[in-house]
Amino acid sequence: MDDCIFCKIIRGEIPADKLYEDEHAIVIRDINPQAPFHFLAIPRKHYPGVHDIPPPLMGEVFGGVMNAYCKALEACGLVQNGYRLVANSGEIAGQTVPHLHIHVLGGRELSWPPG
Ligand code: 5GP
Ligand code: ZN
Repeated sequence: MDDCIFCKIIRGEIPADKLYEDEHAIVIRDINPQAPFHFLAIPRKHYPGVHDIPPPLMGEVFGGVMNAYCKALEACGLVQNGYRLVANSGEIAGQTVPHLHIHVLGGRELSWPPG
């Protein structure tokens, strides 16, 4: 997608602090962190949400995202201390970038329920 900010990051057109990348996904630090650790696991292919992934590709795309954030978790030592995954989907959930991404938050107490 030409005007998608995450596609631009994936194409290298705008900079990002990358923690991990492979052929399926990238993991970058969020530009506006909400916790000491706040990064975004993003599939290279543009899908607005999980529900937009064609079912035959679901395992490959989502598996790639899961694998990517696990690599970043290991690098940041978050596995031992715990973390939270968040996927905002659509306006009601506050999604601001319409390219599927999983927030990974950690490094502080995380209250529940979220707002
Ligand atoms: P959403 O609101 O869609 O759930 O999450 C989008 C996230 O992307 C926000 O937390 C926001 O701070 C982050 N973000 C938006 N633009 C950029 C950018 O250019 N670079 C990085 N690293 N993060 C961004
Ligand atoms: Zn995109």
